[in-house]
Amino acid sequence: MSATLIDGKAVAAEIDARAGQAGAGLARTLGRPPCLAVVLIGDDPASDVYVRSKVRRTEAAGMTSIEIRRPADISQAEVVEIVRGLNIDDTVDGILVQMPLPGHIDANAVLAVIDPGKDVDGLTEASAGRLLLGKPGLRPCTPAGCVLLAERAMGSLSGKSVVVIGRSILVGKPAAMLFLEQDATVTIAHSRTHDLPALVRTADIVVAAVGRPEMVRGDWIKPGACVLDVGINRIDAPERGQGRTRLVGDVAFDEAVGHAGWITPVPGGIGPMTIAMLLRNTVLAAASRAGLAPPEEL
Ligand code: NAP
Repeated sequence: MSATLIDGKAVAAEIDARAGQAGAGLARTLGRPPCLAVVLIGDDPASDVYVRSKVRRTEAAGMTSIEIRRPADISQAEVVEIVRGLNIDDTVDGILVQMPLPGHIDANAVLAVIDPGKDVDGLTEASAGRLLLGKPGLRPCTPAGCVLLAERAMGSLSGKSVVVIGRSILVGKPAAMLFLEQDATVTIAHSRTHDLPALVRTADIVVAAVGRPEMVRGDWIKPGACVLDVGINRIDAPERGQGRTRLVGDVAFDEAVGHAGWITPVPGGIGPMTIAMLLRNTVLAAASRAGLAPPEEL
């Protein structure tokens, strides 16, 4: 068996375009396009790449992008002040503080200040609470992208068994809640889980969000399962030349492709979906703040 590749890049492009159309519609009502503000503290190269990408795709979708960059030695109080300023700026619909923050800044304290109505990353306590309670709200982008790709591949997720490997606040826990919301039967695995391979073999859908290169082996995958590989790990690639590296996921792709029914590649799978869902959330936030229903285009 050879799995069907889930083209996250193509689906993300479609979501970007729909967010763009919905944003253009909102612009006619609001008198301005939806606006996303991204705050980047320090000079972490990976964060720099992510933020550039977010800005580029926000602008390509016809929305307004505000980029606020500050050096790593900024104080926590100053970061909080930036977020408070964005909260009260009526022309800003979404606020994203790029993680990780420098070690001396308490990320939770910064997240706590973000206006929940502008929490397009879906990481505030208010957003997490709404997700847990099954109330409408802004959902975390990466796990929301996982659910959307699984639905595209398999159709209804009702009754499907899902094993989410990883219990982070960013990915694992919200992914579990979002699949539950779709009436799937969800198990969350983590570093203390016994016999992970046997558990994964029971899953119709596997979400790997661990951060360990190629940990999930091909023979862990139930034949025909849908494999969503969230991991982004850079490993040495001496076969490409001295000092060269390459990106791999948390799943041993070359093995799993022979067992799975569908699989996301790394790169080009879940990664592009994260920004697509961010643009979607920005439009949703803009509509909601204006007292409007979610645009139909989404
Ligand atoms: P994280 O906060 O480090 O969480 C990792 C989780 O994996 C933890 O819950 C940990 O369990 C679990 N784990 C570690 N070793 C394990 C093992 N041997 N067996 C089973 N579970 C194990 O990471 P994260 O933020 O969720 O990110 C996970 C991966 O996704 C990373 O590679 C990250 O780069 C990637 N990521 C990608 C995107 C994207 O846009 N595609 C977005 C976010 C993250 P414990 O809780 O027991 O320690």
